Amino acid sequence: MTQQINMTSDEDVRARVDALLAEMTSEEKAGQLTQYFYMDFMRDQSGDGGPSQPEMVEAAMARSGVGSLLFLMDAAEINRLQRATIEGNRLGIPALVGFDVIHGFRTIMPVPIAMAASWDPDVIEQGQAVAAREARAVGIHWAFAPMVDIARDPRWGRIIEGAGEDPYLGGAVAAAQVRGFQGGRLGTPERVIAGPKHFAGYGAAQGGRDYDESHISDAELWNVYFPPFRAAIEAGAGNIMSAYMDLNGVPAAGNRWLLNEVLRDALGFDGFVVSDAQAVHNLVTQHFAADLPDAAARALNAGNDMEMTFVDPAFDHLVAAVKAGRVSTETLDAAVRRVLAAKIRLGLFEEPYVDEAYATEVLADPAHRAVAQLAAQRSAVLLRNEGDLLPLAADELSSIAVIGPLADSQRDTLGPWIFNHDLAETVTILDGIKARVGEGVEVRYAAGVRPSFRTFPSMFDMWSGNTPDEPENFDDDAEIAAAAALAQVSDVAIVVAGEWQNMIGESASRSSLELPGRQLELIQAVVATGTPVVLLVMNGRPLDLRWPAENVPAILDVWYPGSQGGHAVAALVFGDDSPAGKLPFTWPRTVGQVPIVYSHTRSHDPDKQGRRYWDEESTPLYPFGHGLGYGAFSLGAPTLSADSIAVGETLTVTVTVTNTSNRSAEEVVQLYLHQRYGTSSRPVRELKGFQRVAVAAGGSETVEFTLGPDELRYWSAATRDWVQDATTYDLGVGTDSTVELDTTFVVTA
Ligand code: BGC
Repeated sequence: MTQQINMTSDEDVRARVDALLAEMTSEEKAGQLTQYFYMDFMRDQSGDGGPSQPEMVEAAMARSGVGSLLFLMDAAEINRLQRATIEGNRLGIPALVGFDVIHGFRTIMPVPIAMAASWDPDVIEQGQAVAAREARAVGIHWAFAPMVDIARDPRWGRIIEGAGEDPYLGGAVAAAQVRGFQGGRLGTPERVIAGPKHFAGYGAAQGGRDYDESHISDAELWNVYFPPFRAAIEAGAGNIMSAYMDLNGVPAAGNRWLLNEVLRDALGFDGFVVSDAQAVHNLVTQHFAADLPDAAARALNAGNDMEMTFVDPAFDHLVAAVKAGRVSTETLDAAVRRVLAAKIRLGLFEEPYVDEAYATEVLADPAHRAVAQLAAQRSAVLLRNEGDLLPLAADELSSIAVIGPLADSQRDTLGPWIFNHDLAETVTILDGIKARVGEGVEVRYAAGVRPSFRTFPSMFDMWSGNTPDEPENFDDDAEIAAAAALAQVSDVAIVVAGEWQNMIGESASRSSLELPGRQLELIQAVVATGTPVVLLVMNGRPLDLRWPAENVPAILDVWYPGSQGGHAVAALVFGDDSPAGKLPFTWPRTVGQVPIVYSHTRSHDPDKQGRRYWDEESTPLYPFGHGLGYGAFSLGAPTLSADSIAVGETLTVTVTVTNTSNRSAEEVVQLYLHQRYGTSSRPVRELKGFQRVAVAAGGSETVEFTLGPDELRYWSAATRDWVQDATTYDLGVGTDSTVELDTTFVVTA
């Protein structure tokens, strides 16, 4: 491994960029701003006898027309295309290679919403550092991640890619991911550029329908949707991806206010902005731009530096746009500068190629699998545990029924948005349980419901293994009966239920949150046997668990736990480790409650807060921040460094956490704040601090939080600006978002 940390100074970078820029023609500049998908599997698909998609990209390479490539994952292939790019470029400029490294590259971590549920920035950073190391080893320089879109509507399939509903948690998770991907600075060996996406407001798609328009007030944008981007930028993110949809009537990719005034001026972003796939073309589709030349000019002027496209780049028209005066040379050059600067900082000119043998070695590193297992253990959320059914004592059992097809599916264990995974090394829940209990306990499996069914054509169907096969001759009634019969004769039944991985992700929204297929019936049949039941939920969004929440004693949300998922789940089920994950979203009872967030404002009739629907409770099934464990914790009263501070000052809050149980365990201590009155009405409570702490059996730890202007200010629609009010605050420190806010402090003018 020859990679060295690239210490090029800002001044050197500038000088080298200037030198290159002085040599470049407008065509070559537009080329640097063009990112092509490279789809080799489409080589034989040139319908009309013209060049195929990869052939068109190769032609662009030969004329200095490629700045970046995406969707490549093989080291030899990347070296080959990098060589073609450099040789085809008059000035020898290499390509940046980008890819959707979302939750792992070869070693698959739990899905992003699961990682967020760990409330553990350290493990999140470790996970993305592993992903970066694997990706960089094969020649990928840039991850289109993290997705930091706040999502408050679980019908939206991409809720799985983010950190849930809360801007404070979202910010912490975003920053941890950026640190993991990039390391301390761009150019750190074995790391990649992080590209937080999709700027901004994509998670608020109307009705949860992917790509539909978002209508978000300015106050919500500043207070809820922008903060995770701010955190990612402060952590040093080198790239940002703009979003597809119309935000308040203007496509995000064509929105000059959004990309210039907010992203660059207010949030201080100085890296390069890439459009989402085909998003510049889509400015025409969305009836915003007149034609491709118009789209190109408006996209660049709005603040996109690079266009992501399959073929026929809109940015080919930039040369004409400059000639016609629609795009200034300064604007074009500024975009090229940002792209070249990233290439120089990464050290691409010095080391454009990778060592293929070393790549193989990195992808096989067992240390990566250990991080994946740790991350899966940290991510699981224990939703219910009546009578302390969990953990199970393996040595007191002689038989276990494992039920449900998701228990036995490698592909589903990994979740969506993966491309270079190794199915053979994926540990399913069934595998993990068998490995953990050993020979002495009989583990038997029954599917109970059909192992897969096609829902709709997924955008990921072109990758093998992503398309489920409809099983033939599957007798649903007989299978449910057989599963119940197996549970009947077993000491305990572990049922795995949830959504198949292809039912969630991009372009996979749902109008219902029910368990798909006949899974609820299966759970009911198993519970009816009287055998104790543990329900493991595999999901990336909250599901309608009203019946299980009343009738199944133990429910553990394991999400899509990744390559080592089965081992992690078994470690938790059998008590080698205690769950301590917490929900990163409010879990509704039914889809009819959506959207439901814990940080709503108080109504004029607050007593009715709990009875708003006549046909359903108004409370969620599980609150934001909820999650149980096997330890028992008591929190002391919070101690404040001052009862009163002036606007702009800071106070600290200290809390003692005691583990009153006889096992070491972790707990996530959460601080919530409420502002009583001020320039705007503020939410009934907001998360403003958290820490995941390990506390030894019988031991205590002290946790400290800081509250200052960053935590106390907000953007008010009354003044259309940031304010920090002189007011009274209620504060509570607890283990979920229902904690009493029984401490107060005052902020004076
Ligand atoms: C998605 C992006 C993704 C890009 C490249 C788009 O459809 O919205 O999140 O990074 O494709 O795969």
